[in-house]
Amino acid sequence: MIVAIDGPAASGKSTVARAIAGHLGMAYLDTGAMYRALAVEALSRGVALDDAETLSQMACECVIRFSHADGSGLPTHVAIDGMDVTAAIRTPVADKAVSPVSAVPGVRAAMVDQQRRISREQENTVLEGRDIGTVVFPHADLKIFLTASAEERARRRTLDMEARGADMTYDEVLTDLRRRDEYDSNRSASPLMKADDAIELDTTGMTIHDVVAYVEALVAERR
Ligand code: C5P
Repeated sequence: MIVAIDGPAASGKSTVARAIAGHLGMAYLDTGAMYRALAVEALSRGVALDDAETLSQMACECVIRFSHADGSGLPTHVAIDGMDVTAAIRTPVADKAVSPVSAVPGVRAAMVDQQRRISREQENTVLEGRDIGTVVFPHADLKIFLTASAEERARRRTLDMEARGADMTYDEVLTDLRRRDEYDSNRSASPLMKADDAIELDTTGMTIHDVVAYVEALVAERR
């Protein structure tokens, strides 16, 4: 079974996808982490973020691997070409670099191939991203499109950042989220978009517990 969870930045996709995968014993694939890993690698190699040709080539050649710490059944770490980038992909620098990298069609084609291959190795996978229900798995068994107001998403992301020790104010986070949403929604290659057959859920004012329970009930119904 394939469960596709899409939505804008900080809409709760990771939290919900992880919880569902953990509770229901499914594999979990964070496709945003793959684009982030590639962006971090491009920065460390000094590749210009508008150099589509080099970025596409890197996307075809770099090996992105997820692994999990002892005691966790779900991925906790990500590495690109053997280099652990788990922390590096969550910095404000990575937040800025990822959208231009993910807008390159050649990058997307390579990532989508990898995402399909990784998912087919498992019987049941929950994937989260921007184009899972529209491009990666247009025939997914269940498609969810999670949204929340920009202010609510910025509030959640600011708490996340604080917990990670990053020094960003609520206003900076809100500006970054709006910029990324705008970029992701207006790019020509697979823009962020709700699939026609996705169930849209506005989580503003909902607890994470309620969102997870709602989506789990949908998974149980489709299984
Ligand atoms: O989900 P997350 O916020 O970590 O994704 C980081 C970025 O990766 C997004 O802002 C978007 O530019 C890109 N992305 C994408 N397609 C996906 C997942 C993420 O373009 N399926």
